[in-house]
Amino acid sequence: MEAAFLFGLIRIKIVLLQTDKFKFMIIQKTREEIELMRESALLVSKTLGMIAAEIKPGITTLHLDKLAEEFIRDHDAVPGFLGLYGCPSSILTSVNDQVVHGLPTNTIIEEGDIVSVDCGVLKNEYYGDHAYTFEIGDVAPETKKLLQVTKESLYVGIREFKMGNRVEDVGNAIQKYTEAHGYGVVRELVGHGLGKKMHEDPEMPNYGKRGRGKLFVEGMVVAIEPMINLGTKNIKQLKDGWTIVTADRKPSAHFEHDVALVNGKPELLSTFSYIYKALGIESNEENEFRSQPLVLS
Ligand code: MG
Ligand code: MG
Repeated sequence: MEAAFLFGLIRIKIVLLQTDKFKFMIIQKTREEIELMRESALLVSKTLGMIAAEIKPGITTLHLDKLAEEFIRDHDAVPGFLGLYGCPSSILTSVNDQVVHGLPTNTIIEEGDIVSVDCGVLKNEYYGDHAYTFEIGDVAPETKKLLQVTKESLYVGIREFKMGNRVEDVGNAIQKYTEAHGYGVVRELVGHGLGKKMHEDPEMPNYGKRGRGKLFVEGMVVAIEPMINLGTKNIKQLKDGWTIVTADRKPSAHFEHDVALVNGKPELLSTFSYIYKALGIESNEENEFRSQPLVLS
């Protein structure tokens, strides 16, 4: 009797703590909410597909930012980054040694550069958040390898986002995979839960120890985003108060997907398919993370 009563109290307490006033709790989404989040994730994916067709030597990152803002607004959504924490742009464009948070400028993109484009949208009250590092023409072989391994590490991490695992299982897998190539894993910046807020609980570091951190729960949605440096893991922030660069000024790569935990397994909400279509790349890398085939619109 007493135990039942106490159990009742605990249950009430748990329900109260699950409102989004308490940021330290993971917010589980219903199937309907996950489908709304898929729409947001697919719109950021489409936006990056549009960018893929436009990004080339001779244009500026500021031009890409204008195109992205227009594209997002034309699709009944608003840019997710613009104004968030005072962000002045709709995309963040990080060139070469810039890790993330590069502000679009009048600097011209050149042959041999790599450009990480990070994009957010807010649609139906839910955020999408997605990033891809583009090669501009012929890129140095060691940089090309960095991009390939960083993207592979994203899937190595996503594979660990499953029922029974914990937050640091994902980070540990990404860290092991990339450090085996001698790369540096950025510590100060991490992936995150995603929903009605751009950054929800839990933080998703790209490093860690197996079996440590919060237990994954059904219906949670996260942005997994390895930020991997060719050299040192150490970073610095530029005087603009935004742009993060590697401390040794060697190149850095960044790839990001939005993933939901559905039936205990990772379900991809975002897709690189629009980018691959624009670039003429064949890939089946996302297939294992989809319960149903993706239909491109
Ligand atoms: Mg992002
Ligand atoms: Mg993110």
